[in-house]
Order: sequence, then C-alpha cells, then structure tokens
Amino acid sequence: MTTNDRPGDGGRPEPAPTEKVRPPRPKRARSSAVARSVAAAASIAAPEPVAPPAPAPHVLIIGGGGTGGALAHDLALRGLRVTLVERGEVTSGSTGKHHGLLHSGARYATTDRAAAIDCITENKILRRICPGSFEENDGLFVALTDEDVEFEKQFVEACWLCAVPTKRLGREAALRMEPGLNPNLRFAYQVPDATMDAMRVPLRFMATARRNGADIRPFTEVVAVTMTGRTVSGVRVRDHAAGRDYEIGADIVVNAAGPWAARVASLAGVNVPVVASPGVLVAVRGRHVNMVVNRLHAPGDGDIVLPQRLRTVVGTSSWIADDPDELAVRAADVELIVRESAALVPAVARAEVTATWSAARPLVQAPVPAARKRVATRREAATAPAAPAPAGAGRGLARDLRCFDHATDATPTEGFVTIAGGKATTLRAMAEAAADVVCSKLGLALPCRTTDIVLLPHSAWYSA
Ligand SMILES: Cc1cc2nc3c(=O)[nH]c(=O)nc-3n(C[C@H](O)[C@H](O)[C@H](O)COP(=O)(O)OP(=O)(O)OC[C@H]3O[C@@H](n4cnc5c(N)ncnc54)[C@H](O)[C@@H]3O)c2cc1C
Repeated sequence: MTTNDRPGDGGRPEPAPTEKVRPPRPKRARSSAVARSVAAAASIAAPEPVAPPAPAPHVLIIGGGGTGGALAHDLALRGLRVTLVERGEVTSGSTGKHHGLLHSGARYATTDRAAAIDCITENKILRRICPGSFEENDGLFVALTDEDVEFEKQFVEACWLCAVPTKRLGREAALRMEPGLNPNLRFAYQVPDATMDAMRVPLRFMATARRNGADIRPFTEVVAVTMTGRTVSGVRVRDHAAGRDYEIGADIVVNAAGPWAARVASLAGVNVPVVASPGVLVAVRGRHVNMVVNRLHAPGDGDIVLPQRLRTVVGTSSWIADDPDELAVRAADVELIVRESAALVPAVARAEVTATWSAARPLVQAPVPAARKRVATRREAATAPAAPAPAGAGRGLARDLRCFDHATDATPTEGFVTIAGGKATTLRAMAEAAADVVCSKLGLALPCRTTDIVLLPHSAWYSA
C-alpha cells in the first residue's frame, strides 16, 4: 500500500496532518523569522517577533543508532522539528553491538590524532551529561614484548599531543591494580578509558530528544528518497509493523545510517565514501578484569579486554565487507582474538566462550580535509604529521568523523547531508557537526547546547 498517511502504531498519536504536505523550505530572506520561532521553541532568549512566526524547519534523520539519536537530541534542543526513522529497533545497528569502551583516545593517538582528540574531549563531556552510565574503571595499556617497549616513547608523546592523560606504572603496581594481567608484563600506562553500556547511552539521547518533541519511529525503513530535480524533498518509508508505505516531507534529510550510509545515499543518486568495516567480538564467562585492558602497540586485532557486568568481552578484528547485512563471525578471528587477548589476561584462554558476534564500523574512505588535520593544533607542539596507520584491511582507515553536505558534491544534491565515521564515544560530537551543517544550510544561527545538559536516564525511553 502506498499512502501519505501513517497508520496507527499501537496507541501512539497519529502523525500531524502536515505530513501530507511538504513543509515550505525556508528561504534565506525569511531566515530571521524562522530563527526567532526556532529560538523560542528552544527556550533561547529571542527578540519579540515582528511577524507571525514561521513553522520550525523539519529535519528527517535516517538511522536510529547513537549518531542519529544524538542528532535528534541536538536538533530538538535547537528548536527544529525532528523526525527520526529507523528500519529496526533503535540501536539495532552497530551501536547496540559494539565493545562498550568509552575511549580515552589513547588507542588512536599514534595513528589518528583527530579521532584521539575527539575521543578525549567527548569522554569528558559524556561523563558529565550521562552520569551513572559508565563504570569509571580506567584503562591500562600493557607492554609485554620488546616491540611494545619500543612503542612506549611514540605512545607517550602522541598521547601528550592529544591531551590524553597517561600515568606510567611499573610491573608490580600494574599487577596490584589489575591482578588478572599477565604476570610477565613489563610495565603499563593508566589512561581514562571506561566501560559503557552500548545501548543505554544512546537511549538517553533518544529519550531526551523525544521529551523535547522529536518523533522517533522504529521499524520504519527508508525505501526511497523523494526529489524535485536534484533537491531532496523527503523520503518514502515502509512501516514494517503495519506493513504500509507512506511519504514524509522534510526541509533537510540527514543520512545517519552508519555502515548502510552508502546504500542510503544511493537512493538519492549520491555517492558517499563510507565502507563497512566489520569486527568480531567474543564474550567469555566470568569477570577476569576490572579495568579496560589494551596492548601497548598500534591498534591491532584481539588487543582489548573489557569487563561488562559479570562477563569479559574481548576483541576485535577488522576487514572490509561488501554488504553490512552479511557479517560473518569468522572462526579464525575468534581463535585469533582469544589467543591475543589471553596474552594480556591469561584467564581468557581457560574461560568458556558464551557468545560471539560481529558488527560493522562505518568508516570514511576519503582524504581528511585540512580543517580536520588542523584540529591537532589544540596542542602547541602538535604540528608534526601523525604516524601512518598500520597496514591491514580496515585498520588503515581513519576513525575520524566526517559530515558531507551533498550540495557541495561534483554533482550537487540540495537538502541532503551525510554524517559518518567516528566512534560510539564521539556520538555527541558527530551530532554537533551534522546539526551545525543543517543549521547553516537553513540560514539559522543556533548554538549547540548538548555539552552541558544532563540527559534523561535510559529507562525514560521505555516510559512514553
Ligand atoms: C566490532 C566493533 C567494536 C566497536 N567497539 C567500539 C567501542 O568499544 N567504543 C566505541 O566508541 N566505538 C566502538 N565501535 C564503533 C561504533 O560501534 C560505531 O562507530 C557506532 O556504533 C556507529 O553508530 P551509528 O549510529 O553511526 O551507526 P549504527 O548504529 O549502525 O546506526 C545506523 C542505523 O541506520 C539504520 N538504517 C540503515 N538503513 C536504513 C534505512 N534504509 N532506513 C532506516 N534506517 C536505516 C540501521 O538499522 C542502523 O540502526 C565498534 C565498532 C565495531 C564494528
């Protein structure tokens, strides 16, 4: 069935009839009136309107992972009208399946400075706005071999340049702090990593976004992008719960579809250089460490051991997949991950494997623009180029976040933006970057307000 109406969804209110007609795209000449109405909605002090306020522009977000959820929160706070559509349950993509490491940035400091700086910045912000969502257990980077010892200088300098705090611990001190470590370790560095719950952190963003007016629709898949010429005017969706198709008009559509971003962009005839880079994770019975344990070397396979409640989760690996819906759990990866992580925490080798799964990183395969490279100048001495990423499928690609305004593509497409890359740790920063682009395209000067507002608890998501 094809209709512009959305069917009832189990007690939720029917959508506003304005969905049948695409809201008018605000013109630059009207932007001050729009800005006033938006600012009022966002409770920002605004001058008295001199004309009836224009309706807030409507932004449609594709993808209900951490990135889409954080973007819904940011845009709702700025006073825009927001609809988020997700083809499955929210967080059912990569977000709900990741390792659960709130990165300090230390892991990326030697290979991807911009990503490392984003991680340490967001690590501090998330602890502030999501109190109670992290096990504030810190992380250790552990040196086991001569190669690891040689890596120390590079690691310490890179962390310093990225403002990631490190503290050196001798062998005895490291073992006192984390008795589960390999007793043959040489030394370790303590960093502000932490354990997070992969689902509960993004649910806090979604619950708060919904409280501030965002309309979040799970089981609603975008099957087409509606366009007038090369201007995107909305989407056609399939409501999997009701088995119906309908259209939603929007002023701007944001593609936050993670590893599916390239596929979603192709619906608008747009090429976006996002690849799906899967990795395998393995859960073993028992809590064999209390801290996040990393190997002191450039990012590699099986080099993170993380406590999650009464389990230990070890990972991961990295390759490039053609189809993010076809992610194998490669047996050889499971074997490698258990072997490598047992070198750090020997008990892993003896523990029963209780679960294995894979998820895909949405990585951007494009040169980092000069503006992102310059982010490193936050530290005075950070002008030297970062070391090249290690070879290996997926590992060589940056973890850097990127926002594409497709109006600037070689074949411009107006009204369509993609946000991709980054980490679960940097979901808020990704949202801020995308929301800034959206506001700039709408001619609205609305500041981001997400760095200090404490989010609702994740349980608020379940209470309508
Ligand atoms: C193995 C592994 C371990 C990781 N561990 C960590 C970690 O410990 N810490 C960390 O910070 N990061 C980690 N990451 C990275 C992190 O998982 C991702 O960067 C992050 O989850 C991406 O979130 P997202 O919202 O961009 O994508 P997703 O969570 O994938 O969200 C995209 C959503 O779009 C939806 N979608 C797709 N197509 C459509 C459509 N047509 N219509 C509607 N919806 C659609 C999908 O269903 C999906 O829910 C890890 C990644 C991997 C692969």
